[in-house]
Amino acid sequence: MQSLHYPNLFSPLHFDRFSLKNRFVMGSMHTNLEEIPGGFERAAAFYGLRAQGGVGLIITGGISPNDAGCVAAKAATLQTKEECAQHALITREVHKHGAKICMQILHTGRYGYHPKIVAPSAIQAPINFFKPKEMTEEDIWSTIDDYGRCAQLAEEAGYDGVEIMGSEGYLINQFLTTKTNQRQDAWGGSYENRMKFPLAIIRKIKEFVSDDFIIIYRISLLDLVSDGSTWEEVILLAKALEQCGVHILNSGIGWHEARIPTIASVVPPTAFSWITSKLKEEVAIPVIAVNRINTPELAESIISHNQADLVSLARPFLADPFLVQKSSEGLANEINTCIACNQACLDHTFQMKISSCLVNPQACHETELVYHHTDQPKKIAVVGGGPAGMAFAHIAALRGHDVTLYEREPQLGGQFVMAAKVPGKEDYHHTIRYFENMLQKYGVKVILNIEFTPEMYHNYHFDALVLANGVIPRMPEIIGIHHLKVLTYVDVLYKGANVGQNVAIIGSGGIGFDVATYITTRNEESPMDLQNYFKDWGIDTELEHRGGVKKADPSSPRRKVYLLKRSPGKHGQSLGKTTGWIHKATLQSRGVEMLSSVDYQKIDDLGLHISVNGEYRLLEVDNVIICAGQDSSRDLYDVLSSRIDNVHVIGGAFELRELDAKAAIFQACHLASQF
Ligand code: NAP
Ligand code: SF4
Repeated sequence: MQSLHYPNLFSPLHFDRFSLKNRFVMGSMHTNLEEIPGGFERAAAFYGLRAQGGVGLIITGGISPNDAGCVAAKAATLQTKEECAQHALITREVHKHGAKICMQILHTGRYGYHPKIVAPSAIQAPINFFKPKEMTEEDIWSTIDDYGRCAQLAEEAGYDGVEIMGSEGYLINQFLTTKTNQRQDAWGGSYENRMKFPLAIIRKIKEFVSDDFIIIYRISLLDLVSDGSTWEEVILLAKALEQCGVHILNSGIGWHEARIPTIASVVPPTAFSWITSKLKEEVAIPVIAVNRINTPELAESIISHNQADLVSLARPFLADPFLVQKSSEGLANEINTCIACNQACLDHTFQMKISSCLVNPQACHETELVYHHTDQPKKIAVVGGGPAGMAFAHIAALRGHDVTLYEREPQLGGQFVMAAKVPGKEDYHHTIRYFENMLQKYGVKVILNIEFTPEMYHNYHFDALVLANGVIPRMPEIIGIHHLKVLTYVDVLYKGANVGQNVAIIGSGGIGFDVATYITTRNEESPMDLQNYFKDWGIDTELEHRGGVKKADPSSPRRKVYLLKRSPGKHGQSLGKTTGWIHKATLQSRGVEMLSSVDYQKIDDLGLHISVNGEYRLLEVDNVIICAGQDSSRDLYDVLSSRIDNVHVIGGAFELRELDAKAAIFQACHLASQF
């Protein structure tokens, strides 16, 4: 597949005795599919579709070489011929479409969520309940053997190679640093001793597999934890791995326990390609750049600037299996872009649910959520052009229905228009752009600036009505709620209302956090500035400190902000599992005062009068911003359902908890698939 559009991305890569047809790598992701009955069939459909979409190389989710190394009890391993047969379902499907696929071998060490975990030393990870057992010399050698046998079985199962997971703080990484390896024997002490483990694994794998089998090693370039490896140590290891016969080095950034975001939406695009570029200067084998590469433009720029030989995109392949093909055909505007929200992928993984994607609920459900062409086309009116309405409308239209979408506002996007204003959520624009293009592609008639009425339904002879008219902000009953200093989050995020220097935010859910982030961001001109990100989170780009971390240096707060809630307990509990801590740490670094157990008394010229645990306080603020949740816009439903038979309600208008965009888009796509 050659392309005029991204010439570097679509040039083949030849190395050693191997060739890859383009520079796209689909990075490893845990989907939790392999652990469920019938999961390998579903995984084959999942990977097969991405192969059909044109990707050159796929790396699977991590598979353990033995029981101790599993992510969780009974998670997938490859230790027997029976397991091998299941993996062959995946490799056959991928090879049908001319892609290559490598299986990632992952031993979690002290990160596994089960009682049988082992590690170089018996030091518990701060993110795990379980304490590992210290590996004996015998355990170490048998684990090395397990890696060798696992790779051999992977070759038998038809994989083109393996990726050895040596980063993110998993077992191999645990051997490399004194933080987790305090052994006194031949596997601990000096760096030469600590790096024996990965080198022994590579040598063992070489013994067990043929010369036609690709070996990728994911090396931790930045541990982002104190007492991590120095850059000199990283390079020493990289060169030794190359000597041992590793064919490709993939980049690993940050241990899982690191308190620095590395893939969330607050991380600027291509934030870590500079370090892969430094690795590339040191080795002759191909290197892969990773993290926050979600468009073909960004990927092309990395390859064209010679920062890496390959680019790994993981979550973007959940969002759009055909992103490679669309790139090659110059249809980048039709790519459903990953917005780095983590809500349906990583958050699901950590909750042991099947991964999917907020913007593409078909991901990992390829065999279950299918959009067949309809043989009974209907004339459908959709009311509301937010994520739910747009998702429903374009899928109903692609299935062959005649769809008209009515939106009250002058633009499409609904809640996503506001979300995209929040620093670090700029990528939400991509979803609006994608849906708009799909509405156009599938011939949905879009009518803006209009209030839908029951008369329109009858006059235009619709067969069905789908209400996705969203929510309205809740106004709490507080004395002075109509005071001039009171604003809603819609005033601030949608209408661009001016906000004073001292602000109280009532409500500390996702939107309270978003508004607090918006009004405290220092540089609204370039909130995704790379240097600010490094400074705010203490990333040492000079590589003078171990692990690449130094003291964070956030700049002084822009405003005084209070974030308030009535309930007791910590703030941020309702936020995403893998991103909530980031939002909270950001606000803390900006001096936002978070108060719980608040009773709101009144708002007047002096400010907001409250009591906290019964103690009176006056917050002398210029503005009070209401972020107290929403009420459903069900008035229209009540009017319409009494006069129209075929009415369906989706998204926030259906049930308040469905304001959650993941649930809204999921519900919209499922309804559209059944119409
Ligand atoms: P929310 O998560 O329900 O939070 C509403 C907040 O308002 C709570 O802190 C609640 O705390 C307070 N509240 C509720 N009723 C109140 C009343 N009558 N008077 C005063 N305070 C009241 O709603 P949201 O923040 O609008 O978010 C809506 C949805 O969007 C959520 O489902 C969320 O998942 C999603 N979202 C998520 C993110 C994210 O994860 N980053 C960002 C944006 C939106 P008390 O009851 O304790 O006062
Ligand atoms: Fe990307 Fe969010 Fe989809 Fe995950 S759920 S793949 S982060 S858009």
